[in-house]
Amino acid sequence: MKLSDLNLTPRAKSTIQQMDEAIVKGATVHMKWTCVYCGARQTFEEPNAVHIQGGRCEECNKVTDVLQDERADTNFLAIWGGGRK
Ligand SMILES: [Zn+2]
Repeated sequence: MKLSDLNLTPRAKSTIQQMDEAIVKGATVHMKWTCVYCGARQTFEEPNAVHIQGGRCEECNKVTDVLQDERADTNFLAIWGGGRK
């Protein structure tokens, strides 16, 4: 499965685009999303990655379809400087 095969929400598309731009400028980014089951705000630990298989909630252990469910309300955290590639 590839990213381009998915029916991304507009929000996910723009988040991925902004993450790419930040990475190009030297930031380390982590995608953030909201668990659709319990509403907990979650962050993927793996840097500079998009998880097409979805995200497992640390609070309720259920998997949200982060990129194809509008309720996931994707966003990202950018860390500038200090990091090394
Ligand atoms: Zn949850």
